Amino acid sequence: MKKDTGQNRSITTKWRPATRAVRGGTWRSEQGETSEALFLTSGYCYDDAATPAARFAGEAPGMTYSRTQNPSVQMLEERIALMEGADACRVQASGMAAMTTALLCQLSAGDHMVIAQAAFGPTRWVTDNLLPRFGIEATPVDGRDLDQWKAAIRPNTKVFFFETPANPTMDIVDVAAVCGLAREHGIRSVVDNAFATSAMQRPMDFGADVVAYSATKLMDGQGRVLAGAVCGDADFINNVLLPFQRNTGPTLSPFNAWVVLKGLETLELRAHRQSDNALEVGRFLEGRVPRILHPGLPSHPQYDLVQRQMIRPGSIFSFEIGGGRAEAHAILDALELVDISNNIGDAKSLMTHPATTTHSSLAPEVRAVMGVNDGMLRISVGLEDPQDVIEDLDQALRKAGL
Ligand SMILES: *Cc1c(COP(=O)(O)O)cnc(C)c1O
Repeated sequence: MKKDTGQNRSITTKWRPATRAVRGGTWRSEQGETSEALFLTSGYCYDDAATPAARFAGEAPGMTYSRTQNPSVQMLEERIALMEGADACRVQASGMAAMTTALLCQLSAGDHMVIAQAAFGPTRWVTDNLLPRFGIEATPVDGRDLDQWKAAIRPNTKVFFFETPANPTMDIVDVAAVCGLAREHGIRSVVDNAFATSAMQRPMDFGADVVAYSATKLMDGQGRVLAGAVCGDADFINNVLLPFQRNTGPTLSPFNAWVVLKGLETLELRAHRQSDNALEVGRFLEGRVPRILHPGLPSHPQYDLVQRQMIRPGSIFSFEIGGGRAEAHAILDALELVDISNNIGDAKSLMTHPATTTHSSLAPEVRAVMGVNDGMLRISVGLEDPQDVIEDLDQALRKAGL
């Protein structure tokens, strides 16, 4: 397979992020295709018996089996690594496969980790229910409070894990402060950057060791496939994560890799427009509902931090309507344009009631500590004309008597 300049790191790392998103990791076959090829193959054939022997021994480059390598998948991995400014990246079958792989590959019985409590529901299930079964303890802290991170450190603490902005409370974690603290103590920091993506926030610029993604969201961007990714330095990815991934098999399908690869070419365009749209919708709602949690509005308690560490405040925000579950459901039921959906990062605007969907598996006490109440709604603003989204929300609020 012929590789163009998209393969040559010495050239590609000179490119700016938007260029890397379009060009990075492009390989070309002998056909010279413009668009990246889709390799739907599980295995590979060899010209002679010595070739696979050399590849299995790690003495020669080349593919052996698609649980381990596939050209379409590897193109995606190279593109994401370049966009992130990371040495290396490996992709997984979903965002949760990425989070689980990123944690289990480096933790052993007797280890301890600290997690910002306002994390994605299934991530909390992994840290609260799965890890303890293997003798790994996780301490949840308020990610906004550096003193809580400090106080939670033990001699056996191996990992700090957080999301920022967090779902659905829009809590912001100070990436430089928390990752700096981790580094001082020899702790590896892992940041779930799914809400922002590298188009709107670059955690490694602020000292993050590992950045993990649900690529299902803005990276695909059109609600088609599930995918995940983990980025880090070469030692972590190749020597810690890769042996775990190759042998346990949370592999991304080549088709899904190809869809995300093509989605990345428009990531910055979509993410920035969706963020701008979300700001317009947020400005409208600010005067219309009792409380709004929007990282792009000065009313957000951590607005200054958002300005420091984010390129754009993002396309997702939450708001409280003053009522409870009945009122929140009434608003969703009255929507005419915006869809009721717990997905995010789609070109279509989507709205959900976190307490009865994404965060329903958590105990009510855990939801209360996280700040997820029954009157909270979350919206992911898409690429429609924001005025239409505003008009739809306005009529839905009216119909619900608000
Ligand atoms: C969606 C999401 C995940 C999980 O990703 P899947 O692709 O659905 O498995 C993890 N973290 C965050 C912040 C998410 O939004």
